[in-house]
Amino acid sequence: MSYKFLKKDSKIFKAAQGELKRQQEGMEMVASENYVSPAVLEALGSVFTNKYSEGLPGKRYYGGQTYTDIIESVAIERAKKLFDAEHVNVQPLSGAPANLIAYSAVLQPGDKILGMDLSHGGHLTHGHPATFSAKIYKFIPYKTSAAGLIDYDDLAALAKKEKPKMILAGFSAYTRQLDYKRISQIAAEVGAISMIDIAHIAGLVAGGVIPNPVPYFDIVTTTTHKTLRGPRGGMIICKEKFAKQIDKAAFPGLQGGPHMNNIAALAVALGEALLPSFKKYAAQVLKNAKVLEQELKKYGFKIIFGQTDNHMVLVDVFSSKNITGKEAEIVLDKIGITINKNMIPDDPRGPSDPSGVRIGVPAITTRGMKEKEIRLIAKWINEAMEARNNEKILARLRKEVLKLCKKFPIYK
Ligand SMILES: *Cc1c(COP(=O)(O)O)cnc(C)c1O
Repeated sequence: MSYKFLKKDSKIFKAAQGELKRQQEGMEMVASENYVSPAVLEALGSVFTNKYSEGLPGKRYYGGQTYTDIIESVAIERAKKLFDAEHVNVQPLSGAPANLIAYSAVLQPGDKILGMDLSHGGHLTHGHPATFSAKIYKFIPYKTSAAGLIDYDDLAALAKKEKPKMILAGFSAYTRQLDYKRISQIAAEVGAISMIDIAHIAGLVAGGVIPNPVPYFDIVTTTTHKTLRGPRGGMIICKEKFAKQIDKAAFPGLQGGPHMNNIAALAVALGEALLPSFKKYAAQVLKNAKVLEQELKKYGFKIIFGQTDNHMVLVDVFSSKNITGKEAEIVLDKIGITINKNMIPDDPRGPSDPSGVRIGVPAITTRGMKEKEIRLIAKWINEAMEARNNEKILARLRKEVLKLCKKFPIYK
């Protein structure tokens, strides 16, 4: 990356260079992160950032939309093809705004939503009391069973009792395949709108390696920058009958001008996701996560929800290795492996220092790492946690991580 003009702003230039080095020399295993392609980066840095484009292609509020109409239409068409969708809005600025737009499109203040409990893998925007949406809507959490699957009979009973206006599925730290059909049936039985937030798994759906929820749900929201490997942003996919409400809720309901450079980059990323190479990528993500799960089990780690069916594992490090999630995050950081501490279902410890960690493989899979590298990484994760106070061992592991990272360069 040349940063020919950025060089003149030395503070930002140095930080950008430092960040590139950090990304190159570290093992990025935060489950929600990835590396976009150089083409996506170029589109993000393009002149589309200069343009106001309120409205939709062909129906804008300002002139000069010849090219913005092209990129937004291409993004929509590609997303429709990829997800087999009836209607798509590509304007949500990110995942959290996409969810708020979706709620506001079809619900009234005070309406009830059943959403997955945060400590059982749900997302903050699915009803955590700290969010603004929790002040507007009445969220009722549902949970996973001890075996790790959602208890669908319990969910059905809860839906009958509460009569929610919406049943919301989706997660950021749950690793099992959802029964889309069952959830949508439960919603239909109580007359609720069915919505799923596929922020984490969108790339796996796009790659065709896990089932597509789009046929089953009224509304599907997603981020575009996790497994889907696009720029930061959000998308809403819905049945035609909700199309107008969704579009109006995005603009003028909650947002102003869309970020057209992000939409250009999204169109590029969706084009990449339509290629056979993306199917291969998604399949490798699943393989890598499975190997990680199995190797960590061998080292005595307890895998929450029993196993993984997607791109990440949730590990109870406290009961397995007597180390807290926060301590584990810090010790892995020392050897150059970035992960995040995470609550486990009904965590006896608090959110600031929980029992678990979440480890994901999408970013390192983009770098080209495969089963062989995953086995090494699992070994290092175990060694680092066991030798947590031995700076000499940690320094040696840091060198090994660095050596492997150098073999898999990003942005060559
Ligand atoms: C990441 C995530 C979001 C939020 O996305 P942002 O782009 O950070 O706003 C919403 N829902 C789920 C399930 C997520 O995993």
